[in-house]
Amino acid sequence: MQELIAALKEMYPVAACTLQYDTDYQLLFNTRLAAQCTDARVNIVKEVLYARYPALADIAEADVAEMEEIVKPCGFYHHKARDLIGGARMLLDEFGGKVPGSMEELLRLPGVGRKTANLVLGELFGQPAVVTDTHCIRLANRLGLCATEDPVKVENALREIIPPEEQLMFCHRLVAHGRAVCRARKPDCGRCGLLTYCPFGG
Ligand code: SF4
Repeated sequence: MQELIAALKEMYPVAACTLQYDTDYQLLFNTRLAAQCTDARVNIVKEVLYARYPALADIAEADVAEMEEIVKPCGFYHHKARDLIGGARMLLDEFGGKVPGSMEELLRLPGVGRKTANLVLGELFGQPAVVTDTHCIRLANRLGLCATEDPVKVENALREIIPPEEQLMFCHRLVAHGRAVCRARKPDCGRCGLLTYCPFGG
């Protein structure tokens, strides 16, 4: 496992979260918008979103229909608009306008599941975090690190074999590799630096 971690590190030394954000709540909301959508598209939509609603209180008081129009390009816009408005209200009412730093509290926020909560805990609070997005799940299976598509089981499996301080960056690197080489339909095993570690490759 150490060799695989080191190989990924060498291949993607500066891997990072590809969602852009300026504040704690923007990371939370942008991650919600990224469900079933690309980070690249969210990074475009968020420019419009935070120009229209520059403060958390503006989001809390937003008109649902107007918010829906703005987040529509991200898909599932009825749910996402409501989650953003409801999330902003809860942050203001119950958490002093700050994104909370525990899994338990994060999971109380509308639309927040373990994947989002892990990303927030890792990015904002420096906590060990396994972010099981679609690339992470696919690559963890191909690399033989788990044999399940269930995000919680993947998370638990990776937590057991990756040192806590490496977990977040390991997941960011899996995403980078999933986009660049180990794509869902056409993994480019011939030019993959992980081929020697990969039971699926070849
Ligand atoms: S060898 Fe192929 S399947 Fe394995 S990680 Fe590389 S690209 Fe993906």
